[in-house]
Amino acid sequence: MRKIVIAGNWKMFKTQAETQEFLRGFLPNLEETPEGREVVLCPPFTNLNVLSKTLHGSRIQLGAQNIHWEENGAYTGEISGPMLTESGVRFVIVGHSERRQYFCETDATVNLRLKAAQRYGLTPILCVGETKQQRDAGETESLISTQLEKDLIDVNQDNLVIAYEPIWAIGTGDTCEAKEANRVIGLIRSQLSNPNVSIQYGGSVKPENIDEIMAQPEIDGALVGGASLEPASFARIVNHK
Ligand code: PEP
Repeated sequence: MRKIVIAGNWKMFKTQAETQEFLRGFLPNLEETPEGREVVLCPPFTNLNVLSKTLHGSRIQLGAQNIHWEENGAYTGEISGPMLTESGVRFVIVGHSERRQYFCETDATVNLRLKAAQRYGLTPILCVGETKQQRDAGETESLISTQLEKDLIDVNQDNLVIAYEPIWAIGTGDTCEAKEANRVIGLIRSQLSNPNVSIQYGGSVKPENIDEIMAQPEIDGALVGGASLEPASFARIVNHK
């Protein structure tokens, strides 16, 4: 069965003190969160331990923003599956466009990271999406199709979330129209072997547009950047109607 998964991607924002402050404002709102809705927070690595202790027994699941494919080794700046699971992590974002764009992630390394996440019992959130240039050139469908084909080689679709994130909509305030996001997500689903994979939309999701986005039949949740940093706005998104 497809689950609703709302995940906050904090990117490189929030110290541990700021994280505690966020939780004081955010946690009381979860009393209104409908049953069965997964709420995930993906903070910087330094906040995982503090969150894991504070969130124990709460509705929030912990997510990480990256994972390396080796268990350990000389890979400066990377983090491994056992390190994440020891910190209580259950989800991990893989292939975010900022990783692909600024840190030279390729479909081959995305594939390795996806398989590593599953090897350690984590649920990867695979991000795919096109640039503005690719959209304008009519390449959206072929680009996403190629990303899925390469990224999902030997990946188990029984433990997977996908986020459709048009790059031109990330952090720009320029949201993809809900119906268009629904169309592309339907195309993504048609390329999967498991129809029950939850597929999120990501790209300038905010309190003002979450209801329309979640009303679309193909959209199973949201990956939220900027609006997940503020307790009231993330609470409104998590508790959408
Ligand atoms: C993201 O970081 O994945 C994202 C969608 O960011 P924003 O919501 O700020 O556009």
